[in-house]
Amino acid sequence: MKVIGLIGGMSWESSLEYYRLINEGVKQRLGGLHSARVLMMSVDFHEIEVLQACGDWDGSARILCQAARDLEKGGAQMVLICTNTMHKVASQVQSAVTIPLIHIGDAVGQNINSRGVKKVGLLGTKFTMEQAFLKGYLQDKYHLDIIIPDEDSRQVVHDIIYKELCLGDIKPESRNAYVKIIEEMGRQGARGIILGCTEIPLLVRPEDVSLPLFDTTAMHCEKAVEFSLK
Ligand code: GLU
Repeated sequence: MKVIGLIGGMSWESSLEYYRLINEGVKQRLGGLHSARVLMMSVDFHEIEVLQACGDWDGSARILCQAARDLEKGGAQMVLICTNTMHKVASQVQSAVTIPLIHIGDAVGQNINSRGVKKVGLLGTKFTMEQAFLKGYLQDKYHLDIIIPDEDSRQVVHDIIYKELCLGDIKPESRNAYVKIIEEMGRQGARGIILGCTEIPLLVRPEDVSLPLFDTTAMHCEKAVEFSLK
């Protein structure tokens, strides 16, 4: 079993989910008392958030690259960036190490392609919804037709992530706001919704909406387990 290296802490609320889902995945496949071989380097999300807000992506890349190098030195045989947003610097992180980076976009793109779905809605931070690092990756490599909410709704989705979900605050009124935005994307033709932020599955569950949800946290973990056991 290969050692799974996680760059966590962004936020730790979702890193907990990574740890749980990866161990559940290994237990499901191997049974009994089997559990995953995992190494986590958890960063201080305050530092990362400040750098994001002022657009200093090179600064945040330096922190993540160091975390990846530490994981490799510690024996990790692959590295995962446990957030969609920070895949903005995925290529820098990959260049910092010799072990493979398991890109969240590959986990998600392959899963959605296998279900034959083409047109999907994307929810995430404003960085993820508006910039190309994940959206473009999924469009170019997996030929997905991606729609995003309007500007006001994007702000709502973004604010709930940073002001509530990353602080472990799960509010029914925020769930309702997300459900409305999801259903609107359904009316615009989306056949499913990418929960493109690793905390959103803590708020919105499949039973809350009429469209299929593509949980990026779960898909990323699944891919890591698969690679670990290959
Ligand atoms: N975990 C979130 C994501 O998947 C947001 C936190 C961050 O900015 O990294 O994008």
